[in-house]
Amino acid sequence: MEDLVIAQGINKRFASGIEALRDIDLSIARGQFVSIVGPSGCGKSTLLRLIGDLLEPTAGTISVFAKTAHQARLDQDYGMVFQHPGLFDWRSVAANIELPLELHDWTKANRSARSAAMLELVRLEEFGGHYPRQLSGGMQQRVSIARALSFKPRLLLMDEPFGALDALTRERMQLDLAQLRSSDHRTVLFITHDFGVVADIADKVAVMQEGRIVETGT
Ligand code: ADP
Ligand code: MG
Repeated sequence: MEDLVIAQGINKRFASGIEALRDIDLSIARGQFVSIVGPSGCGKSTLLRLIGDLLEPTAGTISVFAKTAHQARLDQDYGMVFQHPGLFDWRSVAANIELPLELHDWTKANRSARSAAMLELVRLEEFGGHYPRQLSGGMQQRVSIARALSFKPRLLLMDEPFGALDALTRERMQLDLAQLRSSDHRTVLFITHDFGVVADIADKVAVMQEGRIVETGT
């Protein structure tokens, strides 16, 4: 299978002197759901940020879709979801979901159809005209996921996307993710400190500890 993401020999040392990543090798094949699991502070977000070109490695190479991480980011070919929804307050829910589509030059008619379909996917059909502040944290996070999926990215990078949710909502979202996963075999990198989250969904799990991948299971 073709690898969409390849990280080889990655080290990351911050200016503070902290060595957040050491000797990281990771590949993500097309259609794979790969999870990185490990305790807080072990370097998970740093690795995701390197793949998303929000940081540069101190050593090693990263390729995304056979391009540099930088070029892949410029080409906007993946969606990202973080712990906090990061929605724009002044845009309605539907307009938030349509933002990436505007950036990808979709027509207005196509944008509306797509945001309606995405709202249905995350079970927020009734809320397209609402504003983010009118939604609960869990609903906002679902909008954030709908936004990341809206432009049909080949790859989804998710960094503890359910981390800020209450336990009940988190459980619900995990079920949703599992369902989404079975209906749509998108390539996903999913980061979490919660070992229970991904056991049933992931094709491959990389366990991290103190900046290293210490175990990989499939
Ligand atoms: P995780 O996501 O697994 O909780 P992080 O990747 O956020 O871990 O952090 C790994 C280590 O790198 C931690 O020791 C953290 O304090 C440090 N770190 C993260 N970002 C920065 C930064 N921008 N500058 C300096 N140190 C950082
Ligand atoms: Mg993190």
